[in-house]
Amino acid sequence: MSEGLFHSAVKRLYSAAEHLDLHEDVLERLKYPKETLAASLPVRMDDGSVRSFKAWRCRYDDTRGPTKGGIRFHPAVCMDEVMTLAFWMTFKCAVANLPYGGGKGGVSVDVHQLSRTELERLSRAYVGAFSRFIGPDRDVPAPDMYTNGIVMAWMADEYSRIADEPTPAVITGKPIALGGSLGRDDATGRGGYYVLRHLEDDLGIAPGKSKVVIQGFGNAAFHAARLLHDDGYQIIGVSDSKSAIYDPDGLNPYDVMEYKQKNRTLDGAPTNGKAKTMSNAELLEQECDVLIPAAMENQITGDNADRIVAPVILELANGPITPEGDAILNKAGKTVIPDILANAGGVTVSYFEWVQNKAGYYWPLDEVQDKLQKIMRPEGRRVWDVSKEKGIDMRTAAYVHALDRIASAVEAHGTKAYFDG
Ligand code: GLU
Repeated sequence: MSEGLFHSAVKRLYSAAEHLDLHEDVLERLKYPKETLAASLPVRMDDGSVRSFKAWRCRYDDTRGPTKGGIRFHPAVCMDEVMTLAFWMTFKCAVANLPYGGGKGGVSVDVHQLSRTELERLSRAYVGAFSRFIGPDRDVPAPDMYTNGIVMAWMADEYSRIADEPTPAVITGKPIALGGSLGRDDATGRGGYYVLRHLEDDLGIAPGKSKVVIQGFGNAAFHAARLLHDDGYQIIGVSDSKSAIYDPDGLNPYDVMEYKQKNRTLDGAPTNGKAKTMSNAELLEQECDVLIPAAMENQITGDNADRIVAPVILELANGPITPEGDAILNKAGKTVIPDILANAGGVTVSYFEWVQNKAGYYWPLDEVQDKLQKIMRPEGRRVWDVSKEKGIDMRTAAYVHALDRIASAVEAHGTKAYFDG
């Protein structure tokens, strides 16, 4: 991700503020992150040498509650990216009305170059370095790109060791056996699926009629694909980091996943016969009714946005569309259901996990899914309504909706008007 990303992300604050009657204190408080800590993590490698990895954690804003957000392990992670992702988390938690602010963390590392024991030592080193920064009532991490349940298990264990007491609520996305929540695994894809299905009449899409292309085939992508497929949407394209498959007659996501797990590639995956293999970039431009970018940031940009044909785009990844790409799509009349709404299902079930850890009482799967639905549908509707009422795109509407909530919390402490009076 390029430097300066944070700068362009924060501009959203100002464009959303134009549609609200906010006190100036609000923007003044939200324009910089509350705190960002950088650390070096020296890790003993299997060959006996020591390697230091750069790591960060940012707590963007905690007005509405403890900061919340994942930890990313990726070679391109930098402070600018971590701050941007923490900013997005602040708004995502407010869109879903979770009692959280936003945070994010990351390590600049290529996990493919580490052994499992090195990965464990790195994960524990992260918590060692940030143990006073995170905490169950302060800042609650979770998985993000290239971190998963087992990494969360090591991190929770390391925190509990330092605190000298079991502290499961310090991190979410844990394995079920260690206090994870049922339903966290498919929550990101499921949340997006609930929003899409809830708005389908407004969007002019329907099961049995509409075709869907998904960029990516990781956790969020697969679950969105299978849920939509089960309901009668036709999935006609999926991809991984190496290649994409596209079949206008439809793919069966379960068969494709089985093939991918066996062969570690999508090349040669079962299709209905008309399949074409293509690049990830080409897949985005294929004819379809719904496009779901569920892989990386910055996939739809000023360079390719005018070649996107899908009228509806559901952002399951964080930040897959750049501001330049966004402007082109909006001008072309496309509806973009933005990341801070579309992928908020993940952090919502993280919140449920945290509540269950604090209560020491665990809910059945149907209760988790019912509660998720009861958040995603009305919040999706509210964002849609704000966009129609104010005549703005759904991304701006989601920021307006979230900023309104954050602003109420900031203003409840008293603004200049109160102190003047
Ligand atoms: N990393 C995920 C996100 O970007 C989940 C965060 C969480 O569960 O706290 O929303």
